[in-house]
Amino acid sequence: MKHCTHWIGGQPWDGAADRHGDIYDPATGEVTGRVDFASAVVVGDAVAAAAKAFPGWRATSIAKRTQIMFAFRNLVREHQQELAELISSEHGKVTSDAAGEVARGLEVVEFACGIGHLLKGGFSENVSTGVDAYSIRQPVGVVTGITPFNFPAMVPMWMFPVAIACGNAFVLKPSEKDPSASLLLARLWAEAGLPDGVFSVVQGDKEAVDALLTHPDVRAASFVGSTPIARYVYETGTAAGKRVQALGGAKNHMVVLPDADLDLAADAAVSAGFGSAGERCMAVSVVVAVGPVGDELVAGIASRIGGLRVGPGTDERSEMGPLVTAAHRDRVASYLDSGVREGATLAVDGRVHPVIGGAGDGFWLGPSVLDHVTPQMSCYRDEIFGPVLSVVRAASYDEALALVSDNPYGNGVAIFTNDGGAARRFVSEVEVGMVGVNVPIPVPMAYYSFGGWKASLFGDTHMHGTEGIHFYTRGKAVTSRWLDPSHGGVSLGFPVNR
Ligand code: NAD
Repeated sequence: MKHCTHWIGGQPWDGAADRHGDIYDPATGEVTGRVDFASAVVVGDAVAAAAKAFPGWRATSIAKRTQIMFAFRNLVREHQQELAELISSEHGKVTSDAAGEVARGLEVVEFACGIGHLLKGGFSENVSTGVDAYSIRQPVGVVTGITPFNFPAMVPMWMFPVAIACGNAFVLKPSEKDPSASLLLARLWAEAGLPDGVFSVVQGDKEAVDALLTHPDVRAASFVGSTPIARYVYETGTAAGKRVQALGGAKNHMVVLPDADLDLAADAAVSAGFGSAGERCMAVSVVVAVGPVGDELVAGIASRIGGLRVGPGTDERSEMGPLVTAAHRDRVASYLDSGVREGATLAVDGRVHPVIGGAGDGFWLGPSVLDHVTPQMSCYRDEIFGPVLSVVRAASYDEALALVSDNPYGNGVAIFTNDGGAARRFVSEVEVGMVGVNVPIPVPMAYYSFGGWKASLFGDTHMHGTEGIHFYTRGKAVTSRWLDPSHGGVSLGFPVNR
């Protein structure tokens, strides 16, 4: 049985925790380890270590910070496979997919290696006679990141490379369901030469989150997770005077117009619907078939699903793994029954999909499709976060657009069409934060910013890219005059530029 604990002040915590959680192998259903849950006292120790490290790190030159970022980048690259295997063993996703999330996280580290350029301010000479003005961006201090189970490496890496490169000290509270990746990342930071306390990890649940959100020395909190908790984190953190960005859940639509390449669309719907067993915040969960394409599209999706290999994430043959917990699998599967009860057609029932090596006690559910779904059904209204694709039929482009824009979530959306004019109009009109044109999972590159609209984001700032730099820094505007012989003595008037 493995034991996961906190990482505080540059080393593993050596205390004895009062509370713990179980770590599962979702493929077998077995408990494989135990994770310590941090009390408010332990969180206080991590924040104290971060607060102690902050002044020195903030004063560390940009050149030195960049060198450490580069060293960390190379170490993560070297340990990519080890990270992927750790993630797969606790989350269940296939190892190649886990390596993919590490690769996307690395892109943010690479972005943050350019911190010298990203922190450049502006300078204006002689804004008034003999007066210069310039702007600088400074780190905010101790910041925290609270992250979900579905990307135990990538989502923390949306946050901490940027925060640390900007000169902050970062305390990560990862998901208690798959805590190991955070500890390997902490070890790699230490190996890269990051000073003790600049990156810490506290494991745990609500108690740790509440302690972080209300700690007087924590200045900003980044959160990614479900919408109810995102709202709670935003309200609690901002009430305690913190800067907060809280990314919530999603219901991502894929609109297929009548002129689309239906083979491409069916491939995309299956890839984006069932990759990582649908446990991606950018997974497609609703296909909107516009006009006459519905039957052919559903037939194309169903025929592709038949050949999907579902099995343990660590088995190279597997394309899709199990769900993260038994409770989550049962909740996801319940939408197959409720969908049928409310009038949908179960076009593909994932409960009978074969599992490589047999299902045993693992948390399995194969890819499923509910057809003829309507917006009133709970399988449409709720975020399912599993391998269940709903197909809604829409009579026109306008009906499809209204459906997407009226949905309370606004994380990602895709349109499939060969009509550039229709795609362009959709990009402009749709009320969603990240849009793909013939791209089903439009995750922005690290130098753009990631984030949704509406119930998918609480706060104003998206993650990484220039918005990330802004979130983890405060702007300062400086007006400077070095006296010359022409200075005019005392004046009580408001400064007016001449
Ligand atoms: P979750 O909201 O249950 O947990 C997220 C984090 O919050 C975890 O660290 C957890 O320990 C903590 N937490 C849980 N309950 C809490 C409580 N009552 N008070 C304080 N903290 C609490 O989410 P999850 O199940 O780990 O992840 C799946 C969800 O995350 C899905 O809804 C998915 O859409 C969302 N997600 C969104 C994005 C995005 O970019 N918008 C990305 C990834 C995942």
